[in-house]
Amino acid sequence: MSRTPYIAANWKMNKTVAEAAQFIDTLLPRIAATQADVVVCPPFTALTAVVERRYGTAVKVAAQNMHEEESGAFTGEISAAMLVELDVEAVVLGHSERRQFFGETDEALARKVPAALAADLEPILCVGESEEARDGGETETVLERQLQTDLAGVDSVALAGVVIAYEPIWAIGTGRVATPEQAQEACAFIRDVLRLRGAAADEIRILYGGSVKPANAAEILSQPDVDGALVGGAALDAEDFAAIVEAAG
Ligand code: PEP
Repeated sequence: MSRTPYIAANWKMNKTVAEAAQFIDTLLPRIAATQADVVVCPPFTALTAVVERRYGTAVKVAAQNMHEEESGAFTGEISAAMLVELDVEAVVLGHSERRQFFGETDEALARKVPAALAADLEPILCVGESEEARDGGETETVLERQLQTDLAGVDSVALAGVVIAYEPIWAIGTGRVATPEQAQEACAFIRDVLRLRGAAADEIRILYGGSVKPANAAEILSQPDVDGALVGGAALDAEDFAAIVEAAG
């Protein structure tokens, strides 16, 4: 089955509104011919600037986090409805930086993923093992536990609307990229886990993330179970990100 490639730019806590606007203005003409789904994930403050510039293009906009509740006393948080109101289409959930630095738990994700789907936001669910887990031969155990818990509240039909990003923690922002074989092996394993859930596993896009650059993108993206990339550092430069989109076809 052929799946549309999916390339996402995770800006993390980078770019002011002015910088975001400049990036999009440079990016759009460079990717006009792409067949891939291109997704930009700005910080909350730049969402509207990116949404407004991409109207009429194939670029989708994702937030980097959201709260699972609809509203309430959660100072500093943002709900799914608030994102939808801005014409945001997707949301990154469970990024390892949120798990590591902000206490994001699998239990919270088990509520966030259904909340995003219920609001018609496409969840980009990040999973991945630490260096210690990989060295200890625990990669598959960790991935399976994260997938089973985070997706527990999603039925097999809705599961087809989730995008999964396999992001080994040891490869994020480190310059240490997984080999194409490691990326393929983990993404194929994730697909097998989803298949056991009764999902239309062959339709689900599974991305690799971790030090993807223009120089290594084509080889990683050519792996049969790697359907795209979640790109951090290299997605801060519009030319570099455009080159990665080009590598996806
Ligand atoms: C990420 O932030 O999801 C990521 C993969 O970052 P980097 O590309 O910088 O490793």
